[in-house]
Amino acid sequence: MSKESHQTISRRRFLALMGLAGATAVLYEVNNNHSTQKKNPISARAPDGSTTLSRPTTTITEPPLTAKPVKIYTHGDLTKNDIFISVDDGWSEQHIEDDLRTADRYAIPLTFFPAGTAIQGKEEVFREIFNRGHAIENHTFNHNIIYQDTSTAEIIGEIEDQKTALSDAIGVNIKQRFFRPPGGDGILWDNHGNRLETPYPGIIEACQKLELDVAIWNIDSNGWMMGARNATPEAINYSLNNVTKDLSTKGKGGIILTHAIADDAAALPLIVEAVKARGLEPRSMRILP
Ligand SMILES: [Zn+2]
Repeated sequence: MSKESHQTISRRRFLALMGLAGATAVLYEVNNNHSTQKKNPISARAPDGSTTLSRPTTTITEPPLTAKPVKIYTHGDLTKNDIFISVDDGWSEQHIEDDLRTADRYAIPLTFFPAGTAIQGKEEVFREIFNRGHAIENHTFNHNIIYQDTSTAEIIGEIEDQKTALSDAIGVNIKQRFFRPPGGDGILWDNHGNRLETPYPGIIEACQKLELDVAIWNIDSNGWMMGARNATPEAINYSLNNVTKDLSTKGKGGIILTHAIADDAAALPLIVEAVKARGLEPRSMRILP
């Protein structure tokens, strides 16, 4: 996470918080099937104007881009005790390893969303994540924030480059299920701070083409906001409290966002214990329908 991207996220989250106060998390289902398009018969006048030259009447039917609608998850089933712990970015090998140790200790699955640049040079640790059965999903290659006017082609390229980097690292042509845009729920807000009905069209089109669902969250540790990332007791409590304050209202089916950074990694065992104390069971996001 560059400082610049954090500032952007921070602004967007601020806008999001302003608009989201009191709102419940939502699950969108967007189907961008193109409607059948009929073209009018094409005709032309002969040069002398006396005769109509007709070309064949054509009806062009465009098939839907894919049969499968793109789902936008901010949570899972609100009636179940499942909860989903996700870990974003992954530039710190040390803190990924901390998280893996926590996952082992509590025998829980995590869902990772690394950037492609985080995978490169850390192939071994990502092989380890994969071999232990944790889901590794898509968070773009370069971790550039996606804006309303980011082209579909650019988003597709970013997603495919990350998938290639991951597949090369683990030695398996991986099939991913989820795309989490850098900046997360910023994709539900336009450049003027207005809440959108659906995420940016480029994201939907890219995900439809690549058969991915969009994964956001409804519980955020906000661990990166403490800045120092040296796992002071205050910073650990900050991450922990940001999660536990939401567990009673959003815990069932909740998707928790953490990052592979010192504060969140140190808070993760406490987060897992708090989750389990409420009777919630951490599951892999891959079980989402
Ligand atoms: Zn990120």
